[in-house]
Amino acid sequence: MTTFAELGLAPDILRALDDLGYATPTPIQEQVIPLALQGGDILGAAQTGTGKTAAFALPLIQRLLPFANTGTSPAKHPIRALILTPTRELAIQVEESIKTYCKHVPLRSLVVYGGVNINTQIPILKTGIEILVATPGRLLDHVQNKTLMLNQVNTLVLDEADRMLDMGFMPDLKRIVALLPAQRVNMMFSATFPEEIRKLADSILNAPTFIEVARNETAVTVKQVVHPVHHERKRQLLTHLIKSRDLSQVLVFTGTKLGCNRLANELNKLGLHADAIHGDKTQQERIKALDAFKAGTLRVLVATDVAARGIDIEALPFVVNYDLPHNAEDYVHRIGRTGRAGASGEAISLVSESETRYLKDIEKLIGSPIEATIVPGFEPGAADVPAYQSRPPRSHEGSTDRSIERTVERGERAGSERSERAADRRPPRSSKPAVTRDALFDAPYVPSDTPRSSAALAPTRPTSKKPVAALFRSPVKSEPAGQ
Ligand code: AMP
Repeated sequence: MTTFAELGLAPDILRALDDLGYATPTPIQEQVIPLALQGGDILGAAQTGTGKTAAFALPLIQRLLPFANTGTSPAKHPIRALILTPTRELAIQVEESIKTYCKHVPLRSLVVYGGVNINTQIPILKTGIEILVATPGRLLDHVQNKTLMLNQVNTLVLDEADRMLDMGFMPDLKRIVALLPAQRVNMMFSATFPEEIRKLADSILNAPTFIEVARNETAVTVKQVVHPVHHERKRQLLTHLIKSRDLSQVLVFTGTKLGCNRLANELNKLGLHADAIHGDKTQQERIKALDAFKAGTLRVLVATDVAARGIDIEALPFVVNYDLPHNAEDYVHRIGRTGRAGASGEAISLVSESETRYLKDIEKLIGSPIEATIVPGFEPGAADVPAYQSRPPRSHEGSTDRSIERTVERGERAGSERSERAADRRPPRSSKPAVTRDALFDAPYVPSDTPRSSAALAPTRPTSKKPVAALFRSPVKSEPAGQ
């Protein structure tokens, strides 16, 4: 097995890796590091969770070592490496990693992103930093304000390039690239390779080496399961799973910002400490929720795809797809939050009948069917829409929705954010009353001290090998809970 030392990394970098407990390089690191140390351009097909941050950051740092100095003059610390990421969360995480890798070398790094006061970033930029991690919009704000210079950049990294294009950053990227010296090393990483990404790669990279690691393959360490369920019973099923399995740190994905807020509120009412992150939350709110989740004080983090992009939580054990993503590749990104760097994880998808077509796309993309199990008591075909659910919504719900829509962040000119917003406004497809409420969620939470039956603790049972769509057509009888 190759070691980091054998890849040619410098002793000060090896020491930092040792401090972090990185014993051996991941496959992408093994391939990217030697090439990038030689200064070749790289096009990497790798998703988050593969160790790609270190793959590009370690050689980048090593190539800057000749410039590392402890001088106090800002002129001694021009920006030499620029790393662009689509979201603030990812930018923050990448820069945190870079700081840890630079622990024993005098190279300075900074992260700049939108949604926070630009004036807090300027004094640090003025002191000089060698490695800048940025989201495109805020970087251009600084360029316009003349608060940073990019004329000495010798390395450019585009991280999660596909997501940057999804979010509408193409014009910003073109403007930024035009500001950089022509002589530079370029590395671009993307989990997916649609036509626009290939075009972007052609326009930015110079004879790149293509390195592919587990593209569109879900981490083997992630156990995947689908629970077919009636769409109106998803909240109850989620609550049941969290409580009966005593899940303590669960990342839950919803399709819309409105759904994200609503679910977090309802889980809280049920006594499950939950918070929501999505594109309409302020940066402070997002960081607070993420920090609490990472620290283990927040049990459930409900997120939309855009907000959750790049979230890196060591050993995150459970990811739940409350809504299946309409884009199969998002499924791969989502479940990449768990089972990272070899840790085991479980990805649970709650799938309603109308989502079976998305499930088919996902199974096609990952190249294998996902095991479907019905949770006893949540059979999809059962009469599962109790009469109390058709009560009209409480009046405050409307105002909450409007206040969500009013808050639009600056700095994230995001196509996906826009589509999240559009999805929030879209009328429901069914002709049933627009909002249904579950009396359970209006009632105060009453903790159950009755001992759980063994069946409740073993919540699922494998179904027949029927496709999930068939499970909705001819509901499989499950043993009543308690047997
Ligand atoms: P990334 O794909 O860059 O987001 O990395 C995923 C996670 O793997 C992060 O928590 C890294 O700190 C961790 N990691 C990266 N490389 C290694 C390695 N060689 N050994 C152990 N953990 C690693």
